[in-house]
Amino acid sequence: MKENTRRCKAIKKVPDSWVMQPNLLDYGKQCERFSWEDVRRELDGLPEDEGLNIAHEAVDRHANGTRGSILAIRWLGKDGSVRDFSYAELKRQSNRFANVLRQLGIKRGEPVFVLAGRAPELYFAALGTWKNGSVFCPLFSAFGPEPVYQRLSKGDAKVLVTTERLYKQKVADLRVRLPQLQHILLIDADADIGEGLWSLTKQMEGAADDFTIPPTDPEDMAIIHFTSGTTGMPKGAIHVHNAVLTHYLTGKYVLDFHPGDVFWCTADPGWVTGTSYGIIAPLVHGITNIIDEAEFDAKRWYHLLEEQKVNIWYTAPTAIRRLMRLAVSPRKQYDLSHLRSIHSVGEPLNPEAVSWGQENLGLPIHDNWWQTETGGIMIANFPAVEIRPGSMGLPLPGVEAAIVRRAAGEAVEVITEPGIQGELALKPGWPSMFRGYLHDEERYRKCFVGAWYITGDLAKRDADGYFWFVGRADDIIKTSGHMVGPFEVESALLEHPAVAEVGVIGKPNPVIGELVKAFVSLKPGIEPSEQLRLELIGFARKKLGSAVAPKEIEFQDNLPKTRSGKIMRRLLKTRELGLTEGDISTLEADE
Ligand code: AMP
Repeated sequence: MKENTRRCKAIKKVPDSWVMQPNLLDYGKQCERFSWEDVRRELDGLPEDEGLNIAHEAVDRHANGTRGSILAIRWLGKDGSVRDFSYAELKRQSNRFANVLRQLGIKRGEPVFVLAGRAPELYFAALGTWKNGSVFCPLFSAFGPEPVYQRLSKGDAKVLVTTERLYKQKVADLRVRLPQLQHILLIDADADIGEGLWSLTKQMEGAADDFTIPPTDPEDMAIIHFTSGTTGMPKGAIHVHNAVLTHYLTGKYVLDFHPGDVFWCTADPGWVTGTSYGIIAPLVHGITNIIDEAEFDAKRWYHLLEEQKVNIWYTAPTAIRRLMRLAVSPRKQYDLSHLRSIHSVGEPLNPEAVSWGQENLGLPIHDNWWQTETGGIMIANFPAVEIRPGSMGLPLPGVEAAIVRRAAGEAVEVITEPGIQGELALKPGWPSMFRGYLHDEERYRKCFVGAWYITGDLAKRDADGYFWFVGRADDIIKTSGHMVGPFEVESALLEHPAVAEVGVIGKPNPVIGELVKAFVSLKPGIEPSEQLRLELIGFARKKLGSAVAPKEIEFQDNLPKTRSGKIMRRLLKTRELGLTEGDISTLEADE
């Protein structure tokens, strides 16, 4: 990752294929005269000055205006089926969902959890939840029962939208531990089942088409995204309706939406990108949002880009690396001439990927950086600004980013000298900044030091202000673009009767970024064996789901520990990478 700081040949500013001007032409000028009040003026607000609601900006203002018949969502099923929803239809469906919530007695500020793949109902649920003033809480459908339980219980879930299969596999057995979970809306059930299990279709059929969004304060809670930490169980990052200003602005300046555009974001709806850019940003701009039910499949993806005439594509480094490994010349085999820009987020995008895009897709790939807590893109390679391959780009106008070094106490020193590594920090105040961690005020406070929000990433800044990612400052693992907290994996493995101690790390992997690896020491009298290794992998998968469970397990008699007995993950990682151990006292603080 350190290689990122090498200066690469810049790719020219605007590709020849550009037929329309980017929205952000003069980055410097825009930064100078920027104000969030101006951005707010480009949005509508609820009628009669009753506040700001994401669903009104994303759907109703288009449906009520001149864009009602425009295609809002085109959903592509795994089996080849297609479902189209205009803005007018999306308004109706989300109104119905809001009415279903109201009938169930779900109130303003109460969470509505969704555990589902990319089903159209997930989108109706998100929008209907915001209309009702409730809080949308998406869960990753590849989680196993334990991560699902942790999040539902931390969020005091009263209502969950899911499918029959996911309910049976991941939720049914948890219900005795979740007494507050009263209503389960099953997307694909034909009839109500009883015991709080409702058919969503039936409920929606019986609900009214009209719904008036109640007054919404821009600071009202709208979304909770669960994200992993290195210690303790997942944190629920709270976002408010005002976040829509960032979604709108980044849609305009980074993704460069123009009327009539067709946009495809490949992110899973269980994570923050799936909400901010898989739902909100394209709809707020009144363009067409493509939703593909299927998972990664190179042929299907290229075919989709061609057939749907996608103009703007937002994807992730793991997917790009998978495409790069195939002996396919996409431009020879597919008509990708409608593509105007390609963007990537979630992990470092290596410079080779940027050039591969240029050669093979006809466009460079624009990396951008943000995280669950920031709610929207903060640093980006903007369409009309020179790309520095390997760099995350420049801060969004309206966002102040810096490389900082912490001094004693609350003091933070901004490193102005280029090329020096430090912590990536942001000046609080952008609209989509998280407003708290659910039930965890202390953890939230700790993220802010002096005048800065400390992101947990290490980075450098070059002389022209471009930011270059160096690594995480903590032990969080990014696997296939998804965050995994080592603590959650360790806790699950510790429940196996043979396991005495566990340390979990991210092991670098050329395709998926990092893979989850566990070092396990066994209880006295238990011998390591291949059979036990496989049993532990299976045990973890059943509990955590395949996306979170370790792919590798290594037995080790004595795991390295600090004086207070905390397992030194950093040292396990250093040894795994074959690096010298140096002064181990600096590798892991003895809390
Ligand atoms: P999440 O909160 O799951 O969205 O993960 C956010 C984290 O992903 C960031 O703090 C970074 O560590 C990493 N990340 C996101 N975008 C990038 C990027 N463009 N380059 C490098 N790392 C990234």
